[in-house]
Amino acid sequence: MAEVMGKFNILKNYFGYDQFRPGQEFLIDSILEGRDVLGIMPTGAGKSLCYQVPALMLPGITLVVSPLISLMKDQVQALNQAGVHAAYINSSLTETQIRKALRLAREGQYKIIYVAPERLETYEFVQFAQNVEISMLTVDESHCISQWGQDFRPSYLKILQFLQVLPRRPVIGAFTATATENVREDIICVLGLKDPQVLVTGFDRKNLFFSVEHTRKKEDYIFRYIKDHENDSGIIYCATRKNVDKLYHRFAEEGIPVSRYHAGMSNEERRKNQEDFIYDRLPVMVATNAFGMGIDKSNVRYVIHYNMPQSMENYYQEAGRAGRDGEPAECILLYSPQDVMINRFLLESKEQNSEFTREELDTILERDEERLRSMTYYCMTTECLRGYILRYFGEAGVAECGNCANCLAEMKTADMTEQAKKILACIRETGQRYGINVIAGTLAGNDRAKLREYKMAGYDSFGSLKEMSEPEIKGLIGQMEMDGLLRVTKDKYALLKLTGQCREVLDGTHIVTIKRRKEEKEKQSTSSSRKARRSDILNGRGLELFDRLRILRTQLAREAGMPPYIIFSDKTLVDMCVKVPLGKEEMLEVSGVGQNKFQRYGEIFIKEIRDFTQGKREKMYFGEREEAEKESGFSAQRKGEKPVAKKADFYLTREQTEQIAYGEPCLATELAEKMNELRDKNTVKKTSGAEIFRRILAKGYAKEERIYGRMVRSVTEEGANFGLILGIRKSKKGTEYEDIFYSEKAQREIVSWFIRNENEI
Ligand code: ADP
Ligand code: ZN
Repeated sequence: MAEVMGKFNILKNYFGYDQFRPGQEFLIDSILEGRDVLGIMPTGAGKSLCYQVPALMLPGITLVVSPLISLMKDQVQALNQAGVHAAYINSSLTETQIRKALRLAREGQYKIIYVAPERLETYEFVQFAQNVEISMLTVDESHCISQWGQDFRPSYLKILQFLQVLPRRPVIGAFTATATENVREDIICVLGLKDPQVLVTGFDRKNLFFSVEHTRKKEDYIFRYIKDHENDSGIIYCATRKNVDKLYHRFAEEGIPVSRYHAGMSNEERRKNQEDFIYDRLPVMVATNAFGMGIDKSNVRYVIHYNMPQSMENYYQEAGRAGRDGEPAECILLYSPQDVMINRFLLESKEQNSEFTREELDTILERDEERLRSMTYYCMTTECLRGYILRYFGEAGVAECGNCANCLAEMKTADMTEQAKKILACIRETGQRYGINVIAGTLAGNDRAKLREYKMAGYDSFGSLKEMSEPEIKGLIGQMEMDGLLRVTKDKYALLKLTGQCREVLDGTHIVTIKRRKEEKEKQSTSSSRKARRSDILNGRGLELFDRLRILRTQLAREAGMPPYIIFSDKTLVDMCVKVPLGKEEMLEVSGVGQNKFQRYGEIFIKEIRDFTQGKREKMYFGEREEAEKESGFSAQRKGEKPVAKKADFYLTREQTEQIAYGEPCLATELAEKMNELRDKNTVKKTSGAEIFRRILAKGYAKEERIYGRMVRSVTEEGANFGLILGIRKSKKGTEYEDIFYSEKAQREIVSWFIRNENEI
C-alpha cells in the first residue's frame, strides 16, 4: 500500500503532518530521483523524515547506519507507533534475536532497518545484504566519518567497504547536524557521494533564546535559575565528572528533583537516570557531554552550560537539545576565564593517548585550537549571539535577532581606538612572537610566572592597559581579529600577528569600537519581551483541557512503557485544544495525528475531549482561530469549513491598491504592512518585508554583502534610479546601521508588482 502512496499521503497518514518543513521535500524528491544527498540540518529540524518518507516509497529496504544504540531504539519505537515496519540490529540484541530479525527482514517484513556501523562487516549481515534489495543507504550523524569532526568514529569508514560488496549501489543519503566546510567536504569525499544534492538549512532555531553570563558564582546562578523555573525540565552540562557530582549533591540536598549522568557511572545507573529524566520523574539533569546524544526529549526548556564547551559545534549541538518541540526555551552559557584553560588542558591531554601520527595530530590540534578560539569569541562578543552562531555555520545571520541576551541588553558603543593602538604596539614591540594570553597579560601588567620567564616587564607596553581587565583586553583582541586587524597563526602556538590593515588604525582612518553592556535591565522586562509559549494561546478552559490530555498521555505512556512524547507531542495536544476534535475526521486534522496514531489513541483522546466539553464545541484559545493556529505554527486545512485552507500567495487587486496612502520614504516591512492590511485576509497570504527585499535583490536594485562578518546592504545605481535610498537606522539600543528606504516612486512601483486581476486567480 505504501508503494502507491505519494509523499504527501505518507506525511499525513503515517506522521500526521500537513506540510513538509523547509528542505525536506527537496531532499525527498532528490532521493526518489536516485540522487545522492547530503542534508545538513540542525537538531530538531526533521532530518529523519527526509529518509523515512522515501524509504516507504522505494521498492526495497532502507538501511540506516546510526552510531548510537539508544537512538536506534527510540527511532524504531516511534516508527512502529506510526505504523511503519522497522527494526534495529545492534549489540543490544542476542545472537538469536539478530538471526530472527534478519530472517524477518529477508521475508520483507521491514522497510527500514537501523544498524550500527560495526554490523556492516559481519559475515552474516553482508550475506543478508547481498541477497535482498537495498534501495537506500542512509548515514545518520554522518560527520562521524570525518577525522576533522569532533566525534570521529573509525568504524564509519567501514561503510565504504560494505558498499563495495553490494551487487548494486543503493542511493546514499548522508545527514548531520554539525558540519563546517571541512567536514562537509570530507563526508562527500569519504563516502564517495556521486554528484550529491547538498542542502544546508535552517540552522536558526528561532524558539531558542541565547545568553552568555560572565559570573564567578556559577553554582548560585544555576540554583536560582532552577528555582525560578520549577516546573520545567532542563539540562546542566559540566566539563568534568567532578563538577557533575558536586552540583548534583548540592541540588539534591536542596530538594531539587535532579538526576545525573557521566561516563564514570555504571551502565545500569546511567540507564536508570536517563529514564528518570526522560519520563519527567526527575526533570533536571546534571551531566557531562556524554549525555544527550540520541535523546529526543522534546520538552527540555533550558540547557545551561556550567563550563564553556570546546567548540561551537559542541555547544550548538548540546544547547540545541532545548526546545525541540518548537516552544520557547533558553540556552545559557556561564563563562569564566578558567574555562579556556580547562579546555586547553583537555585538548593537550588528547595528544598523549592517541593512535594518530604526529602529522595528523598536529592538524587536529590546529583545528581544535581554532574551534576553541571561535567558542571563546562567542563568549566575548557583544554582537547578536544568534547572528554569530549562524555566521559560524555558514549561514547569513541577521544583525539583530531580538531574541538573545545581547540584543535585549542595553549596549553602549565605546570607542576603543586608543586601546587598540596599544595592543598593536605591544604585539609589534614583542616581535609578534606571543599568543593572546601573554599579550593580554603583558598589557594588563600582570605578575605571572610565564610573564616573568619571558621578561615581559622589560617592554614599554607592560601595563599600558592596566585600567582594563585581562578578559576585557582579550575581548578587544578578539574583536580586532574579527575586524581583520590581527590574525592568529594556525598552529598550536596561535601567535598574534599584525595584518596590513592595522596601519589604518595607527593613522586614524579605522575607528575600533566595541559594544558594552550597560547595567543589566530589569530581568522581568527582558523575559516578558521573549517569545510566548505555544500553550499561552490557550485560555483558562484550554489550559484545563491541555492538562487533562497531558495526564491521559502520561497514563498511556506508562502502560506502554514509552516516553510520553512518543505518543503525542505537547504541540499536538495544544492543537487538539484549539481544534477540539469530537470525531475521527476532525481528529485527523490535528497536527501530529496520522492514521496509525489515530488507530491507537484517537478514540481515547476524543472521549476525553468529549467528556470535558460534554460534546459541545467551545473556543479555548484567545483571539481568532486563524490567528491561534498560525501562532501555534499549524496550518488550518479543514474540509467543509470556511475556506481557510490553501490561501493564495499574496496579491492585491487594482481597486485595493487605490486605497494605499503613499507618503514618506519607508522601510520594506512598513510597506508590506500597508499592503497586508488591504488584502482579502480570508483567501490571501501575507507578504513581508523580506519578500520585497528578495525581489529588489533579484532585480539587481540592491546588494547584500558580508563585510567583517556582518551583512551590509547597499543600493545599486539602478536601485537609486528606481527610488531606493540608503539611510541610517538606529536600533532600540542606539546602534546605527544602514538600511534601505523606499521612496514613494519605489513604493508605487513595488505595489504594482503584486497586482492581479480577480479572474486571473
Ligand atoms: P532531527 O533528526 O533533525 O534532530 P527529528 O527528525 O527528530 O529531527 O524531528 C524533530 C521533530 O520534528 C520530531 O518530533 C518530528 O516528528 C517533527 N517533524 C519533522 N518533520 C515535521 C513536519 N514536516 N511537520 C511537523 N513536524 C515535523
Ligand atoms: Zn540577537
